[in-house]
Amino acid sequence: MPKREHLPRTPMPEQDPKQRATNFDEVTLGYTPEMAMAEASRCLACKQKPCVRGCPVNINIPEFVRKVAEGDFGAAAEEIARANALASVCGRVCPQEEQCEKYCLMAKVNGAVAIGRLERFTADWHAAHADTNHCDVSDREPLDQKVAIIGAGPAGLTAAGDLARAGYKVTVFEALHEIGGVLRYGIPEFRLPREILDREIESIRSMGVDFMTNVVIGKTLTIDQLRESGFDAIFVGTGAGLPTFLNIPGEDLNGVYSSNEFLTRVNLMNAKDFPNEGTPVRIPVKAVVVGAGNTAMDSARTALRLGAQEVHIVYRRSRDEMPARAEELHHAEEEGVQFNLLVNPVAFLEGDKGWLRGVRCQRMQLGEPDESGRRRPIPIPETEFDIEADTAIVAVGQSPNPLIRSTTDGLKTTPWGGIVVNEETGETSIPGVYAGGDAVTGAATVITAMGAGRRSAISIDAYLKALRENNNKVSE
Ligand SMILES: Cc1cc2nc3c(=O)[nH]c(=O)nc-3n(C[C@H](O)[C@H](O)[C@H](O)COP(=O)(O)OP(=O)(O)OC[C@H]3O[C@@H](n4cnc5c(N)ncnc54)[C@H](O)[C@@H]3O)c2cc1C
Repeated sequence: MPKREHLPRTPMPEQDPKQRATNFDEVTLGYTPEMAMAEASRCLACKQKPCVRGCPVNINIPEFVRKVAEGDFGAAAEEIARANALASVCGRVCPQEEQCEKYCLMAKVNGAVAIGRLERFTADWHAAHADTNHCDVSDREPLDQKVAIIGAGPAGLTAAGDLARAGYKVTVFEALHEIGGVLRYGIPEFRLPREILDREIESIRSMGVDFMTNVVIGKTLTIDQLRESGFDAIFVGTGAGLPTFLNIPGEDLNGVYSSNEFLTRVNLMNAKDFPNEGTPVRIPVKAVVVGAGNTAMDSARTALRLGAQEVHIVYRRSRDEMPARAEELHHAEEEGVQFNLLVNPVAFLEGDKGWLRGVRCQRMQLGEPDESGRRRPIPIPETEFDIEADTAIVAVGQSPNPLIRSTTDGLKTTPWGGIVVNEETGETSIPGVYAGGDAVTGAATVITAMGAGRRSAISIDAYLKALRENNNKVSE
């Protein structure tokens, strides 16, 4: 029997790259129970638990992994559910290589224990087999105080679930007609199947959380109006949905999209089924995607699945600086996305009747590190060249939408629009109003947004408890 540390990481079964590039089915297929137990048995059960330090919601990872290794999947799921109400989602989309798995001692030996894959397996197994509901709140003490959550992304959903579990009356106000935030409109279904997301949202709803969709706070209602209508505390989790543009000539041509618009059309509005669905999207023949984060990879891989014959990523830095998850990069390459590194777009080129015909690019080299710590890209003179394209998707970043800050007196924000909060409590400059997730940090990750939702829920609970005690004193 080989020593645990000599066992290789259990590979994830996946759809064949050629086949999957033509469909929207999930790329990764998940571990079988045998694979999960084999992978879990690689855990060294080290005393210091460094992996837990790398998890923004503090899942007791060694404990759940031990239970998987023993084949006690129900107990493993219970352990995860104590800390994470979106485990099937996180097991699929968290950048584990930068979080829990980064700190795993096995990472330096024979590959980190595949904690994310085990989390996904456990949560999926529980959903398929168990009759216990981790979201059963029948034993909670119901409270009269009301909390409004603005935004139904991972930050808002986590805060909502935690506060409902604590007994509060929770209402989530969401601008879109569906729940989930980026998990719904940004991350494509070949990475996060919709039934998985629906299932996890249903479990939050089952705790008594009310969802009000098509309500844009700052337009339909303001934060002040929410307070006047009796909400005792408010959490703002409105994300960072405002696209950044390149501001280069031709960006207004037909066929040039922000990644936000492109992905929303396909994921939320189901444009791939146009004309059966009301929203169209240009079906690309040759597409150029600008950027190299998760959003860029999702856009490129979606363009392929819509039928594009050629998809180019254009990125002004080198491979080492690419911000996308390692797995997404690897999958994009396997599926045939072409990478043009150290290349920057300088203009979108006009073809017939205002439609895009190509992207003019310039070659770059790397200089000294800039304020982001990454080496600054510097244009190389006289190196311009054109890439033919009928579709271009700009995926170079997003910032918080200005609506809430422009309609809420006294809400402090940073120069780039992030809501200013006390980092420990999530409290904003307005007492009783808390915020977290991308609305505070700018574009980040699902699990950091969830961690922020949880921290704010704890602070809101303390704030409302103090209010209750005060009211009791006054009435005595
Ligand atoms: C395409 C894409 C792929 C990504 N892939 C990954 C990944 O693989 N792994 C990862 O960890 N992270 C990924 N991210 C980042 C991650 O999704 C975000 O960091 C995370 O969703 C932030 O959560 P949030 O709750 O703060 O905001 P969001 O998910 O943006 O949710 C905010 C919600 O608030 C609503 N809202 C906004 N304004 C208002 C208003 N005024 N009134 C009412 N509702 C409002 C929005 O409609 C939205 O539903 C990706 C992001 C994108 C765009």
